[in-house]
Formats: sequence, structure tokens, C-alpha cells
Amino acid sequence: MQGEKNELGRPMVKPDETMDQLEMQLNRLHRSIRLTIERHLQAFSGTRYESLEQNQTAAAKIAKLLDRYGLRMQCTECGTPSILRVSARKNSNTGVFVFDHVVNGKRTFHGGKSVFPPMDLTEKPPRKTNH
Ligand SMILES: [Zn+2]
Repeated sequence: MQGEKNELGRPMVKPDETMDQLEMQLNRLHRSIRLTIERHLQAFSGTRYESLEQNQTAAAKIAKLLDRYGLRMQCTECGTPSILRVSARKNSNTGVFVFDHVVNGKRTFHGGKSVFPPMDLTEKPPRKTNH
């Protein structure tokens, strides 16, 4: 049955197969995006800017970028998807880098080094549906 057409005169294809193929292709693209971002972010690991504000700006830019692509930073302590933030500390002019995440239902901060940590990326968890 070569050249079979549907009602709109388009070639007959099974929508399910098309969706499967699309999803596979998008997954590959998404993985490639994640690896590309990760490769660039790794250059930051172990470094810091000279001021708290610069570090906070950089962390905020990273968080925004990751959010746009449905990604999160993987906490180096517990592996939970998190947002990297820079917190002010009395004994540090440049702030400390913390992983902001929810662990056991509670907002928790891990990390706390004065330089950008290793930045491994992970998928953003699906939104909770409470209904
Ligand atoms: Zn953690």
C-alpha cells in the first residue's frame, strides 16, 4: 500500500510511532544540551569571583539558564536536584556556595565551600501535583 494518503492528502503515518520517534530525538538533543552546559560550567569549579555580588550574579545566571532547559544542579553531598546559591557569611567576603534543595520535605542547604563546586547537572524533577 505504497503512497497511501490520509484525509488531508498527507502520507499515512501512525501518530504513536511519530511521537515515539520525536521523543527519542528530543531526548538525544536534550542530553546534548545538558552535556554542553555541563562542560562549560565545569570550568567554574574551584574558582570564585572577588566579590559576593559577582558570585551571586554568576550563580543566578546559571540557575536561570538551567531552569530554561529543565535542568538542576546535583548536590555533591546527597545527589538531590538543587539550585546553586551564594550566601553571605560573616567570615567570608565572597560568600559561600550552597545547594538549595528540599530534603525529606524540608528546605535544606548543603555544601558551603567558598568556591564554585563541581557542577553536575540533572533533570529538573517533575512538578508535584496535589489534586
Ligand atoms: Zn544535598
